[in-house]
Amino acid sequence: MSRKIENIRNIGIIAHIDAGKTTVTERMLFYSGAKHRAGEVDKGTTTTDDDAEEQDRGITIYSACVTFDWKDVHVNLLDTPGHVDFTAEVERCLRVLDGAVVVFSSREGVEAQSETVWRQADRYNVPRIAFINKLDREGANFESVVKEIEDRLEGNPIPIQIPVGEGPPHVDNPFRGIIDLIEMKFLEFDQATDGRTINSSDVPEDMLASALMYRDAMVESLCNYSDEMMELALEEETIGNDLIRKVIREATLARQIQPLVCGSALHFIGVQLVLDAVAAYLPSPLDRPPVEGEDPKKSDKKSAKKSDKKLTRKPEVKEPFCGLVFKLIPAKTGDIAWIRVYSGELKANTRVLNVTQDKKDNASQLWQIHATKRDRDGQVDGVQTGDIVGVIGMRHAVTGDTVTDAKAPILLESIEFPETVMSMAIEPESSAERKKLEETLSMLRRQDPTIQVKSGDTGQTLISGMGELHLEVIKNRLLRDFNLKVKFHKPQVSYRESVERAVEVVGECNRMVGGEQLFARVKARIEPFDGGAIPVVVLTQLPPDKLTGDLHEIVLDEFKTCGQSGGCIAGFPLMKLKITLLDAEMGEEGSTDTAFRIATNDAFQKGLDQGGHVLLEPIMRLDITTPEEYMGDFVGDLNQRRAIIARTDQRGSLSMIEAHAPLRELFGYSSAMRSLSQGRAGCSMEPLEYSAAPADVRKTYEFD
Ligand code: GDP
Repeated sequence: MSRKIENIRNIGIIAHIDAGKTTVTERMLFYSGAKHRAGEVDKGTTTTDDDAEEQDRGITIYSACVTFDWKDVHVNLLDTPGHVDFTAEVERCLRVLDGAVVVFSSREGVEAQSETVWRQADRYNVPRIAFINKLDREGANFESVVKEIEDRLEGNPIPIQIPVGEGPPHVDNPFRGIIDLIEMKFLEFDQATDGRTINSSDVPEDMLASALMYRDAMVESLCNYSDEMMELALEEETIGNDLIRKVIREATLARQIQPLVCGSALHFIGVQLVLDAVAAYLPSPLDRPPVEGEDPKKSDKKSAKKSDKKLTRKPEVKEPFCGLVFKLIPAKTGDIAWIRVYSGELKANTRVLNVTQDKKDNASQLWQIHATKRDRDGQVDGVQTGDIVGVIGMRHAVTGDTVTDAKAPILLESIEFPETVMSMAIEPESSAERKKLEETLSMLRRQDPTIQVKSGDTGQTLISGMGELHLEVIKNRLLRDFNLKVKFHKPQVSYRESVERAVEVVGECNRMVGGEQLFARVKARIEPFDGGAIPVVVLTQLPPDKLTGDLHEIVLDEFKTCGQSGGCIAGFPLMKLKITLLDAEMGEEGSTDTAFRIATNDAFQKGLDQGGHVLLEPIMRLDITTPEEYMGDFVGDLNQRRAIIARTDQRGSLSMIEAHAPLRELFGYSSAMRSLSQGRAGCSMEPLEYSAAPADVRKTYEFD
């Protein structure tokens, strides 16, 4: 499977749930010839939603990769989940994508998840194209979505197409085609051939003024990114279409603009043009910078100091092989590890090094897979830089691991996983079931490291995840896919603990231990601090010559271990905490490792006690879209749930509410929301932050 790297497009389709990702993917497969019949999400016949759970729910939970050819490019398309409970999945995909198509519904516009994912794509420097879908829907509004992308996402969308009409057939000016602003042509998609035949004609008279206005705006914006174009414009010379396309490509790759296209995936309008835009404007692996990583030989995991020596791999076949496992899919014949190849080439039946686990593994079979079935045609002998491949035989692989040529290891930056916010206890019915449960959970965790598993004291197993839906999906998999006989308890909110204020403390060890007089003193500052994905940050400002290098490391190590213990209110994990080592004192003698460990623990305990304990609870961000007549009921209900209404908006006859509410008040919110609005409202929910819980909540949990 050796392809020209410049012809590969590793892309993802990202969007808010229901914006139409699955339908767009289906249509892409259909037009590319990879699939002969157009599938429909509503009929449960799509290709990427291959998990039974997904077909039931009609949402895309676990991303699958489909590959197909479009004209002379080869597209590897990762389908990403739209539900906010699965944000980590989206992040993982973004890591390995070179570009993305962001789908917006022309009715709902920019929704919560599009906002989250847009910002994630900014973080991972992913160039993107915007696709405004569902222009056939009642209430579709192209212009206002463009404006929302500018205002709410701080994006720079440049329409390279505009719709002709908006809304369903019964309205006055229904959606019936697209104007290509570069070629200045009106394109209609023949419904009798499911849009395969595209009729191109001159721009209709009544649309000409508007089309010219949009074209001028496009050219004017593009002039900001090209001196050549600016000069032509100033001299009022003709600007050729090839130059326009070249500048769009360059500015998109530089993440200065997002070319904007439009259509209706369900009604076969515009999808081929999305593919054309992917081929023309999104990067190939060659257009991306070399990947960076650490030298695993130099970075000692136990050391507080990280190796600062960075290694890089260019996207070239002659570089040593390096890749990242971004997803694991279980299969009867062995798990399939999906790998993005960043450099070199990978051949079937070779030994590779899993650098993260420090273990050798077999890449026995390589598969280039369509989302549903693994047909024999899919098996390949080798893959090269820039490609994405499913590998069978890697027993040690966990999502997020780096695999490389054993002779040239590099450790790519690992994927960060967010804090879990909800947990659920499970009890196996027998000890045989317990064993099966343990095995199954460890397998699920390899696939989805955002699941946390802990054994409780009472024979229960505690699983934690990113929300109610995440836990429900895991529960259904255990029951349905693995037939486990286990009892599930009600999901519980995951609390955390921290301190209220900064304090400086001195911990001491001055006592006889095992017949020896020990002495050590440790001074530290303990304070509230938001360290992002790192719950407890440990730093040092120890003046030089106070401790030997070894003892210094031991104190920092001990603070880290303390940080992993539970808090004093109810033993919940600690977070939002910073510990800074300020000073230390050794005695004449007896200042051993043990002495410093005891003094460090003492300082830590004093810090927690004097800093004042706080119980932290997860706050969720809710984005609700409801017909306006239910707005009052929603606000009333949210008030009862201790919610803060952060923002409200009106869009036609729909009201949008952004609210922040404690997770503990939101159990079963989706069904409450359905009954408030007779099923007509939509809502998404995502973890926003952890903040101090009120006294009554804290009282329920305090140790007696
Ligand atoms: P996803 O959740 O983003 O994967 O969205 P789906 O592709 O599952 O689509 C959600 C719903 O919107 C389904 O009922 C689709 O049939 C429908 N849908 C998708 N695209 C369009 C469109 O262009 N027009 C209309 N009217 N409905 C669409």
